[in-house]
Amino acid sequence: MTKIKVILSLFVFLLLISCNNKEAQIITVNGKIPASEIGKTLHHEHLLVDFIGADSTGYHRWDKDKVVEKVLPYLIEIKKLGYKTLVECTPEYLGRDPELLKILSEKSGIQIITNVGYYSAVGARFIPKHGFTETAEELAKRWIYQAKNGIEKSGVYPGFIKIAVERKPLEAINRKVVEAACITHKETGLVNMSHTGFAVPAFQQIDILKEFGVHPSAFIWTHAHNEKDFNKAVKAAKMGVWIAYDNFKPERLERFVEFSLLMKKEGLLNKLLFSHDAGWYKPGQPDGGIFRGFTEIEGLLIPALLENNFTQDDIDLLFIQNPAEAFKVKIRLI
Ligand SMILES: [Zn+2]
Repeated sequence: MTKIKVILSLFVFLLLISCNNKEAQIITVNGKIPASEIGKTLHHEHLLVDFIGADSTGYHRWDKDKVVEKVLPYLIEIKKLGYKTLVECTPEYLGRDPELLKILSEKSGIQIITNVGYYSAVGARFIPKHGFTETAEELAKRWIYQAKNGIEKSGVYPGFIKIAVERKPLEAINRKVVEAACITHKETGLVNMSHTGFAVPAFQQIDILKEFGVHPSAFIWTHAHNEKDFNKAVKAAKMGVWIAYDNFKPERLERFVEFSLLMKKEGLLNKLLFSHDAGWYKPGQPDGGIFRGFTEIEGLLIPALLENNFTQDDIDLLFIQNPAEAFKVKIRLI
């Protein structure tokens, strides 16, 4: 009798888990999939970035066939290494091209996630004219429209919010995009990845989240490796913020490992995300310029972590479970 009870409760437990997994979804350029299908993920990369500025960029700036020819081998390369998903972090007015991403995803078999939101760093030169005159609510309305109806007529839906603020105390335009991201999150459940860097603007953004009743776990502190004081990132992670060490380069190996060991010691590995912030095809340069591939984490960082007593479960947490949890569609309120 007891045995039957145990088996029965185990069955109910497994059923509940599978139901929960079914509910949690991520949005790729080819549609929604269960978050559990995200697989090994690079959570911050770029396939194409156009730096000409919001007033001059547009799809006329690149030839999709030529971009595919150049970029596809780099996606096939990571597919062979076991990666399943790449999060493409180029925002609108900086070269986001949903149709191109869809082609590259279909041809490579890599799941790609794109975004909605504006980049207000670098003197706000990637903010379109209406970004300066409209309110946070009006900007959010545009972003929510894309989340609900797709991007233009591409049939592609954004899977996260991408914004950027200056690497110093927030200015009015930075504050406005953060507020618009909060409003959009509350309506759509898309996570907010914010190009941030240092701790000062990171904690200012956490305060804005609080004002809007949004939980810190809806915020990815992007480029957190730029902050010299590890303790600031630990503090934010304890609040629930995702800490993104996302510009891995060989010369940063020691620092990335040191920070990982600290996060492990603090029991915060479940809040850490890694990527290269690499790529990317640059319109206007011959053959798109020099493209940085996405293999240094596999070649250097993961082996170094394993040498420092990280287990395969830790690696799976960092590259599979954490991205699944961060990018799943869920409204996160305080
Ligand atoms: Zn980036």
